[in-house]
Amino acid sequence: MRRSTEELAKMRRAGRVVAEMHEKTRAAVRPGVTTLDLDRIAREVLDRRGARSNFLNYHGFPAVICASPNDTVVHGIPGEYRLEEGDIISIDCGAVVEGYHGDAAYTAPVGRVSALAEKLLEVTERSLWAGIAVMTDGNRLHEIGREIQMVAEGAGFSVVREYVGHGIGTAMHEDPQVPNYWPGRPGPKLRTGMVLAVEPMVNAGVADTQVLSDGWSVLTADGSLSAHFEHTVAITEDGPEVFTTIP
Ligand code: MG
Ligand code: MG
Repeated sequence: MRRSTEELAKMRRAGRVVAEMHEKTRAAVRPGVTTLDLDRIAREVLDRRGARSNFLNYHGFPAVICASPNDTVVHGIPGEYRLEEGDIISIDCGAVVEGYHGDAAYTAPVGRVSALAEKLLEVTERSLWAGIAVMTDGNRLHEIGREIQMVAEGAGFSVVREYVGHGIGTAMHEDPQVPNYWPGRPGPKLRTGMVLAVEPMVNAGVADTQVLSDGWSVLTADGSLSAHFEHTVAITEDGPEVFTTIP
């Protein structure tokens, strides 16, 4: 799907709201804060900006952020869990403005973290930017995942296979799927006006995951740490434009 200039302008505004949700929650990450506190902070941003959450009630999800600590890969439900010194916490959230969606995630250290955790965060974020860098008109979709995989596996980590990035626009999850690895066959051509949510999930141990009994939380199968970074990115004539940052 290729978006018009007007549609891209709305998606840019949705992206800015998500960026602000990131900024405000990130500033609150510290030992003793609960993941429900972070959800409340994100809700305040949505309310202030007159934006709607695309996470709340999504297949029954009860919050506006996913909060996924340590070995939780994605889809953690905010609750009474208090962040501890040495944790890593991944926050994934989105916003809808005038019917158009933004979606982005980051993983932050809580106080001082291990050298392994620090490396995992650095590598996962770098893999995202490596994937974004090849989002130009005429390149192919699988090149995004190939770049991500090279960075992540080059550092000795593994890339989650069961969950992938996606097209985004008037729904949070649209076609095409955007794998974070070489999918075994060439993808479609990327074209100006396409908007994709690119979101590497990188594990310190094995790539395999399992879903917790709450039906949502996805954990690493071996209990190893996992990090997740995501941006909503448009392909423009001038190359990739990231909507979910504050310029
Ligand atoms: Mg997301
Ligand atoms: Mg997403």
